[in-house]
Amino acid sequence: MLEIRPNCEHCNKDLPNTSTEAMICSFECTYCKTCAVEIFENVCPSCAGNFVERPIRPSKMIEKYPPSTTRIFKPKDLEKAKVKSEKYKHIQPEKR
Ligand SMILES: [Zn+2]
Ligand SMILES: [Zn+2]
Repeated sequence: MLEIRPNCEHCNKDLPNTSTEAMICSFECTYCKTCAVEIFENVCPSCAGNFVERPIRPSKMIEKYPPSTTRIFKPKDLEKAKVKSEKYKHIQPEKR
């Protein structure tokens, strides 16, 4: 089950369950669209995997399966992230 983390790990923007801006990698590193697409260019700065839009848990399910309330805020070293993005952005995710 997805944790549905409450914020962007890089810029700390709120990303509630109903947000349409939340992007996740396969490890559920969570970023806003601006960080995931424009800053990291679809290369996760932690694992180099790609991002997809986080699905929204339906309201009927949210009481029984609430989203995480633990904020993870670890701004990334942009120079290192840039090197990683340059290395991987032209490689299809299935070949990374
Ligand atoms: Zn962000
Ligand atoms: Zn990742």
